[in-house]
Amino acid sequence: MCLFCDIAAGKIPSSRVYEDDVCVAFLDIAQTTDGHTLVVPREHFDSILECRPEVLQHLITVTQKLALQLKQKLNAAGCNILINTGEAAGQTIRHFHIHIIPRYDESDGITIGFAERSEPFDLAEILDRITK
Ligand code: 5GP
Ligand code: ZN
Repeated sequence: MCLFCDIAAGKIPSSRVYEDDVCVAFLDIAQTTDGHTLVVPREHFDSILECRPEVLQHLITVTQKLALQLKQKLNAAGCNILINTGEAAGQTIRHFHIHIIPRYDESDGITIGFAERSEPFDLAEILDRITK
């Protein structure tokens, strides 16, 4: 059993913002900010890493349209579009989903920060590990 498979199939209720043959978008139960929305493929993929490219392309197009709609209708100043991938990255539901989180101002409760690394690192060595 997968929660988002069941929500996508309509077996579990959700507040649907949008749906088509490939995906559904519904309000996140947590509403981190007003309008926090999840875009979810109907087909099950554990994460973006397994998602079929055609599905992924469709999802990102829908995400762009919905982000614009949310921004306009809710009068948001911006949005964060997030894909948590793997437990270590904060993914709690193992069915691929894209978060659209409307942002209203810098004190709306969300802080996304990139901590400065304290130990030294070697950019060239890291690049080598990735590309060689
Ligand atoms: P993740 O941490 O996996 O990137 O995000 C999972 C999201 O799913 C969380 O933001 C959480 O609030 C949301 N969520 C979990 N269970 C439900 C549910 O039953 N219904 C809805 N609409 N959202 C859910
Ligand atoms: Zn699923």
